[in-house]
Amino acid sequence: MRKHKTAVPVLGHFINGAVLTESERLSDVFNPALGAVKARVAQATSQTVDQAVSAAAAAFPAWSETSALRRGRILFRFKELLDQHHHELAALITSEHGKVLSDAMGEVTRGIEIVEFACGAPHLLKTAYTDNIGGGIDNWNLRQALGVCVGITPFNFPVMVPLWMIPIALAAGNTFVLKPSERDPSPSLLLADLLKQAGLPDGVFNVVQGDKVAVDALIEHPNVEAISFVGSTPIAEYIYQEGTRRGKRVQALGGAKNHMIVMPDADLDQAADALIGAGYGSAGERCMAISIAVAVGDVGDALIAKLLPRIEALRVRNGVESDADMGPLVTAQHKQKVEGYITKGIEEGAKLIVDGRNYKVPGAEDGFFVGATLFDQVTPDMVIYKEEIFGPVLGIVRVPDFASAVKLINAHEFGNGVSCFTSDGGIARAFARNIQVGMVGINVPIPVPMAWHSFGGWKRSLFGDHHAYGEEGLRFYTRYKSVMQRWPDSIAKGPEFSMPTAK
Ligand code: NAD
Repeated sequence: MRKHKTAVPVLGHFINGAVLTESERLSDVFNPALGAVKARVAQATSQTVDQAVSAAAAAFPAWSETSALRRGRILFRFKELLDQHHHELAALITSEHGKVLSDAMGEVTRGIEIVEFACGAPHLLKTAYTDNIGGGIDNWNLRQALGVCVGITPFNFPVMVPLWMIPIALAAGNTFVLKPSERDPSPSLLLADLLKQAGLPDGVFNVVQGDKVAVDALIEHPNVEAISFVGSTPIAEYIYQEGTRRGKRVQALGGAKNHMIVMPDADLDQAADALIGAGYGSAGERCMAISIAVAVGDVGDALIAKLLPRIEALRVRNGVESDADMGPLVTAQHKQKVEGYITKGIEEGAKLIVDGRNYKVPGAEDGFFVGATLFDQVTPDMVIYKEEIFGPVLGIVRVPDFASAVKLINAHEFGNGVSCFTSDGGIARAFARNIQVGMVGINVPIPVPMAWHSFGGWKRSLFGDHHAYGEEGLRFYTRYKSVMQRWPDSIAKGPEFSMPTAK
């Protein structure tokens, strides 16, 4: 075991039902509000990855043959345990991610909803049957488990995003290896413990902690059938290419730059509230955060007048404080990156209205805080418009009309989420139909689909054919098979040489 100056806990892997603390390489896990190391996390080698995948492969035959009803019952017990540990999970999120506790509680709720959906495994896996397509032949289809599935998840939703994957993969009869973000690894171990307590057989669910070494070993492992990735676009594209090149099924959800159109007929108080929550909630570290307000016509000045007092009133604090609206960013490096974007925006000629750089929170001076930041006069050629900042930085782009707003958004390389605030039904309908974005809100700023719909963006926000969870998730985690049967008494005598058709 490596020696450290201060004794902080070492977080390990969870393989075949047991925690394994590997000690060759460790990385720091921070409490971002305090700016202090709270734990160290083991970084898997390719041998550790092989151990986890082998455990999952060994568990697959029995788990995939377990009836969907029994699998659903284990998920039901898991759901009950998640309810009991809701606050504990949320507190872990706040302590490593930094988001405020009420937001973390909401994250856990959205994760639990996917488990609730997956509890209906027998119904979800029920398939279509056609009696007597002709000549005594019946045709039906099956959705069968794939094998060992892998989830590689980002720091910004350490409970919800793994729960987009795990319950559906398990309900469908797959076994699973999760590689969570090394920046907030603790919730993954609690999820593993709760799954075990719920009665999940050892090896069905495993966690390997780590970085690129672990990810590459997972992609290259011959026993891995499918990979779900959520994270930044460059890594999503890399994983999609490397995974599919090896014949694996891959869904890779990437980054975002989400716009919110504010039409002149919008309720501006509602629009401003929505922008504050969606722009600065979770310190902008959400793939569905709104980072660009598109002010149509002459609405820009009135919108800014509504935003300013709301920004002034924001309570930026350690997320454990009950009245906190916004917490710190996840790491010192990320804070530096976000502040770099603010400086870049000024250099590019955007008008900085509120500057969140060098923000100090009394009592938490070492925390990785950036205050709410607002730019006006952002233009599409600017880096702060094109790139995902992933911090509390909201930019306003002014356009003359609705058509220009749609054109602007459709030209962006990302297409994750989008919103339009209007009181005109015709505009709303045209917006929903013509916008080239995967998740659309009409007077709803963060249109994250419910568990029984599916989550995913378009363009460079998603690589692969399926969105996450809901019916799309179920398709991703199963292989379709069509079966035709006929029994001897209906078989015609003699061979047939023409294409079989329904008779
Ligand atoms: P990230 O891409 O840095 O990391 C995601 C995962 O990839 C982590 O598990 C990480 O360990 C691993 N990883 C990092 N670098 C790697 C490399 N070089 N090779 C292989 N694996 C690597 O993302 P993040 O900073 O943790 O999360 C924020 C990003 O995730 C943002 O871009 C955000 O938009 C995106 N995100 C997207 C969605 C979505 O649904 N589209 C949801 C949440 C977050």
